[in-house]
Amino acid sequence: MTEQVLVVGGGVIGCAIARELAPEYDVTVLEKDGIGHGASGRAAGLVTIATAYAGHDRIVDHALESFHAFDGNYGFRFHDAESLEFPSERGPLQQQVEEHREQGVAAEYVPAEDATAQYPMLNVPEGGYLRFDRTGWVVPSEFTEAVRRSATDRGAAFETGVEVTDLAVNGRTVTAVETDVDTREPDRVVLAGGWQSPALVDGLVDLPVRPYWTQCVELGADVDLSDVPMGWLPDPDVYWRPTRSGTLLLGGGSAFPDDPAHAPTDEAAAFRNRIVDLFPHVVDDTSGAHYVQGWAGVDGATPDTYPIIDVPPEGPENLIVATGFHGRGIMSAFTAGAAVRGLLTGESPVPTAPFRLDRFDSRSTDFEFISVSA
Ligand SMILES: Cc1cc2nc3c(=O)[nH]c(=O)nc-3n(C[C@H](O)[C@H](O)[C@H](O)COP(=O)(O)OP(=O)(O)OC[C@H]3O[C@@H](n4cnc5c(N)ncnc54)[C@H](O)[C@@H]3O)c2cc1C
Repeated sequence: MTEQVLVVGGGVIGCAIARELAPEYDVTVLEKDGIGHGASGRAAGLVTIATAYAGHDRIVDHALESFHAFDGNYGFRFHDAESLEFPSERGPLQQQVEEHREQGVAAEYVPAEDATAQYPMLNVPEGGYLRFDRTGWVVPSEFTEAVRRSATDRGAAFETGVEVTDLAVNGRTVTAVETDVDTREPDRVVLAGGWQSPALVDGLVDLPVRPYWTQCVELGADVDLSDVPMGWLPDPDVYWRPTRSGTLLLGGGSAFPDDPAHAPTDEAAAFRNRIVDLFPHVVDDTSGAHYVQGWAGVDGATPDTYPIIDVPPEGPENLIVATGFHGRGIMSAFTAGAAVRGLLTGESPVPTAPFRLDRFDSRSTDFEFISVSA
C-alpha cells in the first residue's frame, strides 16, 4: 500500500515537499490558514542561491536547474538577473573577489567607469561593485501557488483552515496527528510549519529556530526601473530587486519580535524613511520617487542560517522536520523538496548533511541573528 505522508504547513516549503513526494506517496498538506499566507507570501523573492549556498555546488546547480525547468509552468516565471554588491567597510572589493572564488562563487569586480556604462540608471559608487551571475528573482506568491498547483496535479491533497494541534507519540513513532477538527493516522509526518514548527514538537525535539521579523518597501520613480539589476548595500544591510511593473523592491531591517504571532504586518515608519533616504544611493534618477507599498513578515532563523531538514535523532522515527529557512525559503524550496525525498528514499540529488540537526552543539534559541541579505 502507498505510504501516507502528512505535511504540516502550506507555505512554499510544505508545497515543494508535497510536489516532490506526490508521485510516490499519498500526500496530504494541512494548512491552518491559507496556502502561502505565512512568510512565503511576504518574501521579496530574491534567488541568490549561488552565494547563499557557496561551496555546495550540487545544491546551487539543482536549485537553478529546478527554477529554470519550472519557468513557464502554472503562470510561474523565473527572472534571471545579475546581482551586485556595493562597496562597504568589509574591505576592498578586489580582495573579496578572491575570497568568493575560493568558495566557488563566480564574482567579478567592475570598476565604476565600466559599471556606469553597463547600468546607466544606477548610482554607481566610486569604488565600483562586485557582480555575481547565477542569481535571479521570482514573485513569491506566484511561485508558491504554482508549486501548489503542480503538487495537486501530481496527486497531493491540500486542506486549508485545518490546524494541527498535537502529535500523539508511542515509543519512537508518531501514531496520530490531532487537528482542530479530527484525528489523522499517517505513516509519516513532515513538519513544515515555518517559525511555528518548534511549538508543535515541544517536549519531543528541541529545535534551535527563533522567529525573526523583517521588512520590504516598494518604491517607484518617473523612470522605468525594470532593467536595474538586483543588489545589496552591505553597510545599511539593504537589498533590492526590480519588479515587473518597473519599481524597485528594497528589503532588510530585521529584528527578533517579542510577540511573533502578533508582530506588525506593515513595515516600520523608520525603516520606510531609511529606504526612501537610501533610494538615491541605488538609483541615479529619482525624480518623481514615490512610495508604492510596504510590508513585514516573520520567518524562522537558525544559528548558522541554514535550515534544518532532518529526522531528528532523538525524535520519532517517522517525523521529518523542515524548518528554519532564515530568509532563504523561497530560493531553497526545491532543495527542501529534494532533501526530504532523499531522507525518505535514500536517494537525493542534493546533499542532506548541511541540514542535519546534530550539526548544532546547542539547541538554545538564544543566539544572535546573522543577516543573509547578500
Ligand atoms: C519580508 C521577507 C522577505 C523575504 N525575502 C526572501 C527572499 O528574497 N528570498 C528567499 O528565498 N526568502 C525570503 N524570505 C524568507 C521566506 O519567505 C521564508 O524562508 C519561507 O517563506 C519559509 O517558508 P515556510 O513554508 O517554511 O514557512 P511559511 O511560509 O511561514 O509557511 C508555514 C505555514 O505553516 C502553517 N502552520 C504553522 N503551524 C501550523 C499548524 N500547527 N497546523 C497547520 N498549519 C500550520 C502556517 O500557517 C504557514 O502557512 C523572506 C521573508 C520575509 C518575511
